[in-house]
Amino acid sequence: MEMVARLVVSRTAALIFVTGVVQGVGFRPFVYRTAAKLGLRGYVRNLGGSEVEIWVEGADGSIEKFLEALEREKPPPARLERVVVKRVEPRGYASFAILESGAGVSVKSQIPPDIGVCEDCLREVLNSSSRWYKYPFNSCAWCGPRFSMMYAVPYDRKNTAMRDFPLCSECEREYSDPRNERRFHAQGISCPRCGPKLKLLDHSGEPIDCEDPIAEAAKLIEEGAIVAVKGVGGFHLAALASDDKVVEELRRRKRRPQKPFAIMAIDVEAVLKIAEPSELHLALLTSPQRPIVLVPKKVPSIVSPLVAPGLSELGVMLPYTPMHYLLVSETKDKFLIMTSGNRKGLPICKGLEALRELKGIADYYLVHNREIVNRVDDSVLRLTDGEPQLLRRSRGYAPAWLELPFNLGAEAVALGAHLDNAGAVAFENKVVPTQYVGDMDNLENAEFLLSALDFLMKSYRVKPQVIASDKHPNYATTELAAKLSGELGIPHVRVQHHHAHIASAMASRNLPRDSEVVGIALDGVGYGDDGMVWGGEVLLASYIGYRRVGHLEYLPLPGGDRSTLYPARIAAAALAAKLGPEEALKVCLSLGLERSLPGGARELELAARAFAKPPFSSSVGRFLDAVSALLGVCNARTYEGEPAVKLEAAARGGQLVGELKLEVEGSVVLTSELLLQLLELNGRHSVRDLSYTVQVRLGEALGLVVRDELGDLKLPAVLSGGAAVNDFIVKGLRSVLRNVLLPQGIPAGDGGLAVGQVVSAALS
Ligand SMILES: [Zn+2]
Ligand SMILES: [Zn+2]
Repeated sequence: MEMVARLVVSRTAALIFVTGVVQGVGFRPFVYRTAAKLGLRGYVRNLGGSEVEIWVEGADGSIEKFLEALEREKPPPARLERVVVKRVEPRGYASFAILESGAGVSVKSQIPPDIGVCEDCLREVLNSSSRWYKYPFNSCAWCGPRFSMMYAVPYDRKNTAMRDFPLCSECEREYSDPRNERRFHAQGISCPRCGPKLKLLDHSGEPIDCEDPIAEAAKLIEEGAIVAVKGVGGFHLAALASDDKVVEELRRRKRRPQKPFAIMAIDVEAVLKIAEPSELHLALLTSPQRPIVLVPKKVPSIVSPLVAPGLSELGVMLPYTPMHYLLVSETKDKFLIMTSGNRKGLPICKGLEALRELKGIADYYLVHNREIVNRVDDSVLRLTDGEPQLLRRSRGYAPAWLELPFNLGAEAVALGAHLDNAGAVAFENKVVPTQYVGDMDNLENAEFLLSALDFLMKSYRVKPQVIASDKHPNYATTELAAKLSGELGIPHVRVQHHHAHIASAMASRNLPRDSEVVGIALDGVGYGDDGMVWGGEVLLASYIGYRRVGHLEYLPLPGGDRSTLYPARIAAAALAAKLGPEEALKVCLSLGLERSLPGGARELELAARAFAKPPFSSSVGRFLDAVSALLGVCNARTYEGEPAVKLEAAARGGQLVGELKLEVEGSVVLTSELLLQLLELNGRHSVRDLSYTVQVRLGEALGLVVRDELGDLKLPAVLSGGAAVNDFIVKGLRSVLRNVLLPQGIPAGDGGLAVGQVVSAALS
């Protein structure tokens, strides 16, 4: 009697709302099993696409244990953003059940990003007695493609490219069995009987008759062929990474002389043979997002030096589908080049257009018959001063949203800028960046941007009340925004480039609506308010406005864009401003700088003589370019940021050169003085130490501008812009300023710009 009474007394109930990444990741079956294990009764059901409602009742202690297990034992890809627990009166449920989705959608559906293959799925693929043995498309509730195959929200099979592959009876049985941990209600599952199929095609698109297309493709790659491989979010070009001739040929065909190629290695052990990852690198590599991670190269290495020439790091990723795993496992090296399958300047191929666009690049095509609905490139991450920084935010991350600590008050859309572009939409307190789109030189990319934005606006039922773009009058995206603003009858807000960078970083760090910060923009190019090319700016900024309080000295860019391609021109003109053109030319010729210019000594002379003509630039990128040219590190740019990126690589392991100083006058960092000093010190110190010192000093000098101009105004310093990921500049800054915040979860470069644009426009 007494025992019964105690049981009755201790019986309680809780109503729990969980928000975050909780749908499309096997969360409900997990809740079901956990509740059952603890003897709890009640139900679980989906509300909106990012919210789950749970009712549990039972012994009090069990509910506590249940709540702990929710966080601790959740499925690997699940993320709990908010758990709200309400104590309620028990209703006397007899069991625990998974209910149909609730009709009352209280929040909008979050579109789940793609998830790399999980260990359990891989185990099945490698187990010869499993029915998924060698099955390239095995996936479950915890893993597999999501966003890349969705036509619409919510994430139900009928809304995905898997609707073309009806479940066989066995898969159907597992799909309907709530005790099946990984396949119950898993929308993307399939098996060799009912799922997509692979085919190998020759260069003209004719199928090659073979038993095992993956093994055959691997054999061809081993023989030196370049094979286009259709994956999750687009095509890769796969090729041997250990053979100089193959890499050289791939570079020639892709017209990509220097830009690094990424490598897919079969597992951590294989990564350790070619690179020297830290614990954090490994955690990022093995995360469900499976990004490309930049990891220090191992020297010497079996990887061809042509894979990442002049760089100290290698872009490495792990297989994120069973197909990739099987392909790499069939090779001797256990790693391969896997680079985006696109023609230079065009979006990554995702369908049959690959046969046309990769003609002359790929020798063979390994393809499957599941449609890629949303194109997503591989994401790229690096560590900056120990913090993970996204260089490209796409597969695995997009299109997850950022939550702000305030409501925006208006729905908005932003088109970004020009290079490495992505767009964004915003509503309520959410900002949703699109996946990586690329450079906006082509109509194809503009169409891609608009379709990516359209998908987000449809999915989240966003009706923009304002449209944002860059201030640059000649960007295609600015023109497009002006046109759309007219068509939709909504205002067009032009957000200054570096203000947008700082606002992006602020939003990514969840800063409150009224925040004031010191914004430090370390960037390549941005249209300045004075018509100059900005890019090394100290701004006193909020989300909606800013005041420029300091910057790098304006250096001449003789010939504008041509100077970005050939940084020796900037060096010659900057020195001419100090020494006069004759003397500067003499110095530059003694360094052999004319050899890097197509027009030789004559071009160098013209550049030096143009020192007083616009355009002028305060850009960090252009300054580092000039240093890179003077030190002979890199004097022709074949990809975005190349001279600066190589200067950073050249500085690894460097020591401070005490004599080398970077002075600040008023609020201007005197960069041309430093170029003069470099002339003197070059040869007396190693290129490594000089490269290192220049970058550290640049950080220190910007820190001093902040201190001198703003005194003890105790504001956080927020860093952004393409060069904000530079280890040594950040180190220098942090030696002067205490509280320096880098962006989180979005790129510091132009790929994250639209976030700041959309927030700024929605608030103003
Ligand atoms: Zn799985
Ligand atoms: Zn099946």
